[in-house]
Amino acid sequence: MSDKDDAETMRGRLRSERVNSLFSEDELIEDYYDQPAANDSSCWNDYGLSTLQSSGTVSSRSSSMHSGSTEGLDAPAQLLPIIKAGWLDKNPPQGSYIYQKRWVKLDADYLRYFDSEKDTYSKRFIPVTSIARVASIGDQKFEVITNNRTFAFRAESDADRNEWMRTLQQMVDERKFKGLNRISLFQPPTGALDSVDKCGLLELRGFKNKLYVVVAGDKVFLYKNAEDYRQGIGITYIEMNVGNVKDVDRRGFDLTTPYRIFSFSADSDQEKDEWVEAMQQSIAEALSNSEVAEKIWSVEANRLCADCGSPKPDWASVNLCVVICKRCAGEHRGLGPSITKVRSLKMDRKVWTEELIELFCQVGNCVANQFWAANVPPSEAIHVASGSQERRRFLIAKYKEGKYRRYHPLFGNQEELNKALCATVTTSDLAETQSLVFCGAEVSCFSGDPDFPNPIALAEQAGQKLQMEFLLHNKSSEIPRVEAGNSEEKQYSVILPSVTHNGFLFKTPSMAKLVHERKSREEFSRRWCTLNDSIFSYYENDRNAVPNGEIKMEEIVCLVNNPPDTHGYESTFEIYIESERLYLFGLENPEAIRKWVKSIAKSFIHPRADELLSHDFERIGRLQYKGGLNLARAKEGWFALTQSVLYAFFEDSDKEEAVHLKKLQELSVQGDSLVLVERRRTLYIQGERKLDFLGWVAAIQKAAGSSGDTLSEQQLTESDIPVIVDRCIDYITQCGLTSEGIYRKSGQNSKTTSLLEMLRKDARRVRLKEGEHQVDDVSNTLKRFFRDLGDGLFTKEFCQDWLKAAAIDNEEEKIGQYRQLLSSLPVVNRATVKALINHLYRVQYFSEMNQMNTHNLAIVFGPTLFQTDGKDYKAGRVVEDLISRYVVIFSVDEQEMRKQQDEITAIIKMRIAGSSSGTQQAGDFICTVYLEEKKTEAEQHVKIPATMTAEELTFEILERRKIDTKEKEYWSCFEVNEREEAERPLHYSEKVLPILHGLGTDSYLVVKKQLSMENMLIYLASRVSDSKHGMMKFREERNLLGLGLSTGFHDRYFILNNSCLRLYKEVRSLKQRMPAVENSHRPEKEWPVKNLKVYLGIKKKLRPPSCWGFTVFYENEKHEKQQWYLCCDTQMELREWFASFLYVQNGGNVWPSESSKVRASRTQQDSSFFETYEPET
Ligand SMILES: [Zn+2]
Repeated sequence: MSDKDDAETMRGRLRSERVNSLFSEDELIEDYYDQPAANDSSCWNDYGLSTLQSSGTVSSRSSSMHSGSTEGLDAPAQLLPIIKAGWLDKNPPQGSYIYQKRWVKLDADYLRYFDSEKDTYSKRFIPVTSIARVASIGDQKFEVITNNRTFAFRAESDADRNEWMRTLQQMVDERKFKGLNRISLFQPPTGALDSVDKCGLLELRGFKNKLYVVVAGDKVFLYKNAEDYRQGIGITYIEMNVGNVKDVDRRGFDLTTPYRIFSFSADSDQEKDEWVEAMQQSIAEALSNSEVAEKIWSVEANRLCADCGSPKPDWASVNLCVVICKRCAGEHRGLGPSITKVRSLKMDRKVWTEELIELFCQVGNCVANQFWAANVPPSEAIHVASGSQERRRFLIAKYKEGKYRRYHPLFGNQEELNKALCATVTTSDLAETQSLVFCGAEVSCFSGDPDFPNPIALAEQAGQKLQMEFLLHNKSSEIPRVEAGNSEEKQYSVILPSVTHNGFLFKTPSMAKLVHERKSREEFSRRWCTLNDSIFSYYENDRNAVPNGEIKMEEIVCLVNNPPDTHGYESTFEIYIESERLYLFGLENPEAIRKWVKSIAKSFIHPRADELLSHDFERIGRLQYKGGLNLARAKEGWFALTQSVLYAFFEDSDKEEAVHLKKLQELSVQGDSLVLVERRRTLYIQGERKLDFLGWVAAIQKAAGSSGDTLSEQQLTESDIPVIVDRCIDYITQCGLTSEGIYRKSGQNSKTTSLLEMLRKDARRVRLKEGEHQVDDVSNTLKRFFRDLGDGLFTKEFCQDWLKAAAIDNEEEKIGQYRQLLSSLPVVNRATVKALINHLYRVQYFSEMNQMNTHNLAIVFGPTLFQTDGKDYKAGRVVEDLISRYVVIFSVDEQEMRKQQDEITAIIKMRIAGSSSGTQQAGDFICTVYLEEKKTEAEQHVKIPATMTAEELTFEILERRKIDTKEKEYWSCFEVNEREEAERPLHYSEKVLPILHGLGTDSYLVVKKQLSMENMLIYLASRVSDSKHGMMKFREERNLLGLGLSTGFHDRYFILNNSCLRLYKEVRSLKQRMPAVENSHRPEKEWPVKNLKVYLGIKKKLRPPSCWGFTVFYENEKHEKQQWYLCCDTQMELREWFASFLYVQNGGNVWPSESSKVRASRTQQDSSFFETYEPET
């Protein structure tokens, strides 16, 4: 007990002492526990609040806590350049007549005053944004007027006073008129509750009353009370990059900084834990924030703003490669992103890839200024204290007009510039690239080489990653033009359209979670909202000058237009911002909401993607995605969701592409990605931020699912047939064509019901498997689906016309009528009718086995498709006519018929073969492919489309297993023949499906590294002649009358040229190797190389003389098969022979020469694939 008492006494004493020395301030004075009586300052140093000098022990402790932040001590003070500082007298608090001397500092964000110039923590901060104006009140005095309070100061002279007023007023004006340039992450002064991580009342040792403490981003703010917080006027803030949080007791904790220990006490231990956690996160954020900056600042030239020389610049232009201060960054913004792309070193963490940081270390301010600022007249240069106008003028001249740049000797000669750029990007000379690009060389110019068509591809091929990085950031950069700056108006035009809109909206508090529940009207408050200069602000009412909060357009990542009546207000929309907050607004007036949504969308969507605005979108925004063959780098895309179409602007494309969600082959969430699989393309949408990503996932999943009971509301295949129908038809085609009474026999009712339910829920996921599903259950499911269809297959509108047509006597007229009716059906219905009738046509083709001729099928399907009770014979007639006149009515040409015939034959063959390792499921050939070796854990089941190449399959497997391939790793797909103990790497361009069909029961596919590929490529590149000859041991497998007769391995001489492999008995006969001579000697055997299938390995049973052998299969035109074995003495020989085989068989193209080549071809396929889509109208 005595301990506690002692602590209490101590606390009381400390409180009074500290009060005196630090915060015994003005209007706060009455708050303090005791009046100052501090003669004894012994405790002061240990628990010192204020100055660096008085807290030496703390300082040394703290700085050792964060190794690496050696500059930590002056960091907080210098993070923002001080615009003006000096001593001023602060007017006395109430009840006193004595002016207090204060050290006053002004930076871009705050006006602060301190006890002394050595203090780190202020007694008071006033955000520049909350200052309404500055007024002179005589006697060297002036007032700083905020909306709620006035602060009076007295300068030492009129001149000093005027200088303060001028500087302050200038800052205030800049802020007011350039809302756009307000780039600080958060501004608690305006009560921006939204960016706050934690806030509330806390006891701070030294204060009588609890303080209002706010943890926001990488800072902790102290306010006298909540009211002050709302007004924005605070005591001080603590930069958490020098902070450390320590648990003290049940409710108490210390925030230690090199300058002071803040001892807090919470109301409960739970509260304390929350505060400790929030502050620790804030420290983590502050430290991680400075990581990029520290790296970039490690280069001397990057420690001062490239434009004005301010210290510790923590902003950058990522395309110009310059590090700049906050004030210059504001002006850079004004130039627009086609001139300069402004990013924060501390906040925009995602941009800062290793490459970009390295680029900044190698180019950075030094190299950039050698170019951009080669000829700056001293009279035009700017410095730390330059005003906004001067900065703007200078930056326009420097970057927009290129007035001071060092001209490249090729300037003006476009062709030569482009050529030089193509050459330079393959070297490491970044300075030259910079000079070329900003003197007019075109980043996207054609290099003349279709394989590497532009400088970016060339740089990539040359492995010049930094060149690539530089070029990528400057892909859309505008080249400086002197005449660009002629019109003042034009200069400041910002790329984002400046949309102005205002009015009352109802708003809920912002949220960190998706809104799942309905928000009632009571949860909304009426706010005056304005959209101006790319800032959306909301105010208590339309008379308030200071907003309750604001959202910058550049922070918005997603905008959602909710369906009507989602919440208490009829129309609502949601805004998602970068820092994972969600804002919900509503109104009774749908038209007004529509206008708001349009205005906001217009002001945050990248102009290059503005086509998206033309859609009646439900959701619009930006997302990270990966696609194509290069999955290494995520790119930024703009997306809009309208019903079941996802419109996208991908990073490297300037036209809109549409993803038809109902037609996806697969949709799944894998880790942090949403995977959308289309026929030839897989798109990974990445969860960069959680909140908006989850929203997108839910919306896309919903849009991709079946939404109703009509045909067009179902998940669809490429050819517009509902997946349900497609799955069932395919299954019956594979397994039920010969099943007796197919479609007439009814399956088990319960099974049909559950299967239909499963299919309705997500048909894409349902795999119908033989053995698991009975054909009659599936056939019944299909019938039930048609019978229950909302609008019917032939639609309610035209149903009767179809029935009438069946009664027409004249054959020609009847067919004409059917065709006419067919063409008036909606697309999906038409495609479905055709698919179904085609299917029934096939079924009747097997009527001898299944007993279902056209008439029988018509009896079953007539009432099903027309949803009648079966009494109207005409329904059956229609179906019978459609089947029996299928070829005429559907204009099926001969080729299509033959193709179908072949397919049926193949299916029957496959069924008879039965046991092949590629099993078929519902039309897709699903193949088991192993990764590296055959074992269950390494199994992957892959759908093999007819066009898939070995390379694509390899890539798909690696992608699924998230394996990054490195350079010189030759991943390939191998066909392994277990019986022969041999394997064959498939050529990368080889189609997989035929191989799959040909695979025997003891063969399988495996994806693994081809270890000898590098050596083979080296060999091929270095050899002198295209032909290869030498001794090998040969053994023939003779299958005569089923008897395995063999004579063992014998030496033979082989010659492999670019078409044939020849075998000679005698080496001697070839001693003079002249072509004529060669021809004159008849080889014992000769094979065309292209008809050989060469496998590595020989089965051990044959006792090969070495382990370096081949197994070769040969099939001649008469389909006669031979099989023989070749064996080398060394591995090197084997490799050389095998390489030569590959070389000849593939026309010299053994391995894709460069990854980008493949990518280019894939991109092409992708875009042409997209072209086949027509946007829905
Ligand atoms: Zn600067």
